[in-house]
Amino acid sequence: MTLLDETPGGASMQSLEQIALLVRNCSDCPLSVGRTNSVPGEGNPKAKVMFIGEGPGYYEDQHGRPFVGRTGKLLDRLLASIDLIREDVFIANMVKCRPPSNRDPATTEIAACTKYLDRQIELINPKLIVTLGRFAFARYFPGEGITKASGQVREKDGRLIFPVLHPAAVLRREELRPTMIEDFKAISAILEGAMKDIGTEPGDDSPEATETSQLSFVDAQGHLDVGSANAEISTATAEVISQEEESQPEQLALF
Ligand code: URA
Ligand code: SF4
Repeated sequence: MTLLDETPGGASMQSLEQIALLVRNCSDCPLSVGRTNSVPGEGNPKAKVMFIGEGPGYYEDQHGRPFVGRTGKLLDRLLASIDLIREDVFIANMVKCRPPSNRDPATTEIAACTKYLDRQIELINPKLIVTLGRFAFARYFPGEGITKASGQVREKDGRLIFPVLHPAAVLRREELRPTMIEDFKAISAILEGAMKDIGTEPGDDSPEATETSQLSFVDAQGHLDVGSANAEISTATAEVISQEEESQPEQLALF
């Protein structure tokens, strides 16, 4: 049985709306007991970039929507800093129901819930997945340390994965804020690189295509050159930061 067919419960997941309905009625793990509302996730069904958090907190549980509390306000401002709004992206979580007292989600709870996120990713098919914090990071790189991997774009299962800190960590530790701002600038650079690759057919030697393939992070075989992607990100980030320092220091201070 594949995810395209029936779930073990018998209901299908052919659209994001169907997934949301299943999530709202799900009792596949103990987190269903304490929830006020489950939080399926929301955003643009054709988003190029998808953000994966950990799980709903108090406000998310109250409203049934992801990242609407203080952490969500910070995420909104980080998105705005790279000219994105929520409607451009898709935001989801590892578990769709709030763990009591905001405790860590259990491995068994994550395992029970992953079918929904798996299918959301399949349907949205984003170019880039940004993992927020260690639980979403572990979905792709289990057993690795997040500190070292954070801020480096990687390829996994044919998709670009960009691990960053969790915005809640930034609210707890102010000194992490500049890193988070830099990592968000890099999201623009990665998306630009990934988008440039589209429309460049092998053998297309038009001047435009030649320029594109020189700039692209992806070689003719479709493999991502993560080294050069990360080098371009560093350059792009340094440029953006220095431009901002010169022209709009007050904008950075807003954070
Ligand atoms: N933290 C998360 O990981 N997800 C949310 O939706 C809100 C806060
Ligand atoms: Fe179902 Fe996921 Fe909620 Fe558990 S956390 S009850 S698996 S929707």
